[in-house]
Amino acid sequence: MLSCSVVLLLMGSAYIIFEYISFRETVKKNISTLGVVIASNSTAALAFDSQKDAGEILNALRADKHIVSASLYDSNGDLFARYPEDLSQNILPSGPGESGYNFKGSFLEGFQPVVQKNLLLGTLYIKSDLTSVYDQMRFNILIAVSLIIGSLVVAYILSGFLQKTISKPVLALERTARIVSEKHDYSTRAVKKGDDELGSLTDAFNHMLTQIEAQNLEIIKANEESSKLAAIVESSGDAIIGSTLSLIITSWNLSAERIFGYTADEMIGQPLEKIVSEEQQNLVHHVLAKLKKEEQADSFEVQFLNKAHKLLDISLTISPVKNSEGNITGVSHIARDISVQKQNERLIIENEEHLRLATQAAELGTFDIDLINGTRNWDKRCRELFDIYTDEPLTFEEHFLNRLHEDDRERIAKTIEAVFNKKLSGGNYDVEYRTVGRDKKVRWIRAKGRAFFNEEEKPLRFIGTVLDITRSKQEELRKNDFIAIISHELKTPLTTIKSYIQILLSKARKENNEFVINALTRADSQTNKMTSMIKDFLSLARIEEGKIKLVKEVFELRLLIGDIVSEAYLLHSSHIIRVENCSEVKINADRDKIGQVLSNLLSNAIKYSPANSKITIGCEKNGSKVKIYVRDEGVGISPGDQKSLFNRFYRVDNEKVKTVSGFGIGLYIVSEILRYHNSTIMVESTEGAGSVFYFSLDIYPGT
Ligand code: ADP
Repeated sequence: MLSCSVVLLLMGSAYIIFEYISFRETVKKNISTLGVVIASNSTAALAFDSQKDAGEILNALRADKHIVSASLYDSNGDLFARYPEDLSQNILPSGPGESGYNFKGSFLEGFQPVVQKNLLLGTLYIKSDLTSVYDQMRFNILIAVSLIIGSLVVAYILSGFLQKTISKPVLALERTARIVSEKHDYSTRAVKKGDDELGSLTDAFNHMLTQIEAQNLEIIKANEESSKLAAIVESSGDAIIGSTLSLIITSWNLSAERIFGYTADEMIGQPLEKIVSEEQQNLVHHVLAKLKKEEQADSFEVQFLNKAHKLLDISLTISPVKNSEGNITGVSHIARDISVQKQNERLIIENEEHLRLATQAAELGTFDIDLINGTRNWDKRCRELFDIYTDEPLTFEEHFLNRLHEDDRERIAKTIEAVFNKKLSGGNYDVEYRTVGRDKKVRWIRAKGRAFFNEEEKPLRFIGTVLDITRSKQEELRKNDFIAIISHELKTPLTTIKSYIQILLSKARKENNEFVINALTRADSQTNKMTSMIKDFLSLARIEEGKIKLVKEVFELRLLIGDIVSEAYLLHSSHIIRVENCSEVKINADRDKIGQVLSNLLSNAIKYSPANSKITIGCEKNGSKVKIYVRDEGVGISPGDQKSLFNRFYRVDNEKVKTVSGFGIGLYIVSEILRYHNSTIMVESTEGAGSVFYFSLDIYPGT
């Protein structure tokens, strides 16, 4: 509106000034033309010197009401005629002036020579007022003012309309811009109202917002990344130290505080040398120089000093910090305190040395087999025991199995197979075997070890020791021989004693001598006990020598169990013995030895359970197998003892059983006999509630 008004005002003024000037010129021209006409009309009056005619000619000027006065001068310059006629001579010029018209005040006056054929006859003077000019001016000003006012009204109406179409979208843009700047919500968009310039402006504004939003997201992401990084740096277990290229510390995280004892305030701005031990200063500078040259991270072990001046073993990784142009601007130092690890390493080395000396002193050999990549580590002693005197790589077949005594080979191969089966053996390995040297020298070895498994129970490593037990084994064998000989020697007189007792017993029965019958029955029972003991000793000796031989036959289980129970009743009538579900089962086994197994289990059940308690021998058919069990309600066996129960000479040592006699060989014989039958003796027991011993055998087909 303001610009419109100014423009209109300027234009109006220019128009008025122009009109004023041009109208004055027009008036001047009109008067001059009038002058020319009157002058030419006056020639005759002047030539004939007729003042009357001249007066009449001048009177013609009456037609123009703006002509104020006029006069005619003769060639001498004397007033010849005047208009109006009654006009005082004083008001008129005294004589003719220079030719031409000029504005004087609010009048236009001028002289016009009256000429005929180049002869000056006189001069005409005309004076006109300018009211016509002023009227015209007033009219023009009126028009201009009306036009300006009219234009301003139109401009006002137009601006009202344009404001709607122009300022509304602009205001909407302004609102959007405010929301964005106040709420920092760059997802806001201005609504496009049309396809004109404002529409394009809205598009451009929205495009700018999209770019800002994308940049903002990138900034947020970058901030998140850097705060994550900062959190990692702060929570890292390693000291993370930033420094300039001249090793002035610029950052110092919490772990650095923890490891070195200095706070960030104490260290930032300080030289890194403050924590580097004197001897290692050169090393750090050397690595730094290398880092500057090669521009890549480097790790090494150094000794740093903590605040208390204690030397710490540090694993240090230093890497270059680069700016966006790729120039190295600083160094990052990641320091891990490995003092404990180093101490442990030193301890391990010491312990290994102790162990080496101890195994050397104990003449123990060690083996360590990596089952994943198949490497076998046998130490010098272990190789000696297998008669291997080179460092050649070892193989299972050639260097182990083939060096075993042929009678032990199959058993040990099976045992090792079981060691690698976690469920079967728990990975435990404890065996005795013989090795045969190249000079045919036989050595007895005790090997003990353990297999280690992964989560899927796959064996990973097998480690253990080997010990030469030839001497003690030979002594043991001599002892076994001795026991075997004694047992054998005792067997013959005992058989003789038993037959005499039988004869005497039948004689006493005939004589009905109650006392003698009673005494002889007890003697018979004791000889039976001794016979069974001797049988066990003989069995033990045979087992030890590996001389046990099975004589298999097909027999009915029920009948064998019946015999064993009757025999037991002969010895002890103190317990109630029940047999269940054992009819119609035939097996193919060594009848005598399975009888020995059952009789051992039954006599243990009797020995280790109170008088009058119940003992059950039972069978449970399961497909092609029959499970045979002996259950009692006796003292039971603790889980700890259950593990060792089947070892040779193992006896439970507690108050409840210490009065019960025995040698701890019964269950060992049971387990060995069953092993020869490809079966295993098992036990389930709860202390104070009784035990169940059981094993499975193949049912003879067709029963
Ligand atoms: P022993 O001659 O000592 O009985 P065994 O080898 O037969 O030797 O048994 C080993 C140990 O097992 C025994 O000392 C005993 O403590 C325990 N034992 C065996 N059978 C039973 C059982 N039925 N109840 C409780 N303990 C038993």
